[in-house]
Amino acid sequence: MRIVLLGAPGSGKGTQAARLKEALGVPHVSTGEMLRQAVAAGTPLGRQVKDVMARGELVSDALMLDLLEERLSRPDVSNGFILDGYPRNLVQCQALAALLERLGQPLDAAVLLEVPVAMLIERLAGRAAQEGRSDDSPEAVKQRLRVYESQTAPVVEYFAAQSRLRRVDGVGTVEEVSERLLAALR
Ligand code: AMP
Repeated sequence: MRIVLLGAPGSGKGTQAARLKEALGVPHVSTGEMLRQAVAAGTPLGRQVKDVMARGELVSDALMLDLLEERLSRPDVSNGFILDGYPRNLVQCQALAALLERLGQPLDAAVLLEVPVAMLIERLAGRAAQEGRSDDSPEAVKQRLRVYESQTAPVVEYFAAQSRLRRVDGVGTVEEVSERLLAALR
């Protein structure tokens, strides 16, 4: 099954994708996680994106497409994937459509985790205290939510217009939300 998981920062995408991966038996492809690993390892890519990420802004579309293309060309995703963190804007929507077409791997669904903004801010503040991600600082969180509203919200409309979008209430326990996600995908 090939799925795109959509949702604002703090909506629980990462947590839910890790669970979905077990339930569906396909890899979790998180572009944010791939970038954080590159930063931690100090690779050329990591050095290039570190500051942009810490500010809560988007990495360039060209860099992201290279990264995604390499990842989706590996054999472990031949039976499907859960894509988390991509596409983040309409240019990336077009790039993903073209890439999947070329790979002969059409998407099955895009799932949106819906969480009210006040709860997103609360969750991100909690995560900042626990995980110490550089982009969970108050300034970066504000910027990431602004970027989501202006650039990523249109991605939701893009999938809705293709009748591919499934909306899932992201408020509740981790287990409750997982159940809803699986039900939406059945
Ligand atoms: P995430 O873990 O998905 O919230 O991503 C963390 C950060 O990585 C984002 O705030 C961006 O700086 C960068 N990033 C992740 N995915 C993308 C993407 N598809 N396009 C541009 N930047 C991205």
